[in-house]
Amino acid sequence: MLKSIAVMTSGGDSPGMNAAVRAVTRTALHQGVKVWGIKGGYHGMLDEDIFEMQSKDVSDIIQRGGTFLGTARCKRFTTPEGRMLGYKNLVDRGIQGLVVVGGDGSLRGASTLSQETGLPIVGLPGTIDNDVWGSEYTIGSDTAANTILDAMNKLRDTASAHRRIIVLEVMGRNSGWLAMVAGISGGAEYILVPEEEYDISQICDSMKAEYEKGKRYILMVVAEGAGKASELGPIIAEKTGIDTRVSKLGHIQRGGSPSAIDRLNASRLGEHAALAIISGLSDIVFGFNRGHVVSINLHDAVNNKKQLDPQLIRLSKVLA
Ligand code: ADP
Repeated sequence: MLKSIAVMTSGGDSPGMNAAVRAVTRTALHQGVKVWGIKGGYHGMLDEDIFEMQSKDVSDIIQRGGTFLGTARCKRFTTPEGRMLGYKNLVDRGIQGLVVVGGDGSLRGASTLSQETGLPIVGLPGTIDNDVWGSEYTIGSDTAANTILDAMNKLRDTASAHRRIIVLEVMGRNSGWLAMVAGISGGAEYILVPEEEYDISQICDSMKAEYEKGKRYILMVVAEGAGKASELGPIIAEKTGIDTRVSKLGHIQRGGSPSAIDRLNASRLGEHAALAIISGLSDIVFGFNRGHVVSINLHDAVNNKKQLDPQLIRLSKVLA
């Protein structure tokens, strides 16, 4: 049994990280284990921005987006010297294990730290992209999909009023999950994702044909990894001759009060992470599979690429 653990958030923030940290903290305290918060991701670990937390430190945060611990990207941590300094700062405080909430990069860093130092580490997938291998869910992905959906509902009103084509660019450099899920849920006619090739001339031909048959408007959702709305918009306008507008949601997708699903799932994952690290387990990531919490090997999680569900790609075409 470990007697003292730390928790941190790292990399891109996502709604629900607070709920995860809260659950880790309160579960640890419930077990009579000391729990430390590390501020600003690996930066805080290296700069000794580390404080012991009590239950009240995680009060009033479950409803907030972002992460009250702060997050960062830290170049120094990518060097062995940087990681060794971080490890020393933890050991100096008697910290025996670490829970890292973050995306692919943060979990990769955690995996290296654990391999090099033997420090027990448990990861939680915190990213709006839902691209962590081994889990069907990541903390924040549900809220981000709902944020896009809200924007789509609004864009639909104005697109319909003017009989326009609207191209909405959403986040997802390497993963089309957000675009696909929001696109299907929002009834988009076209969804472009990095996982699938597309022919813009063919798309424009079919847009024109649909307008000729009386369609009032068209919504296209494009993941940033599949193309820029600012470039696709003018091409579509030129090829179709139809009034086309573009919109880029940007960082709005990262913020906002977390959905019920993100709060609940983050709380469940946080409890599992705390109990696992306290019991001495290491090198695992907790995620979801068929609605159940599962543990995934940390090394596997960071060394495999999650594929976009082909059933979603198929469905998007059937329903368009
Ligand atoms: P995310 O966790 O959202 O994917 P990043 O990829 O930016 O975000 O990773 C966050 C931080 O994790 C980086 O700034 C760096 O400190 C650390 N990190 C990422 N990749 C590695 C790696 N291969 N080795 C060590 N540390 C890493």
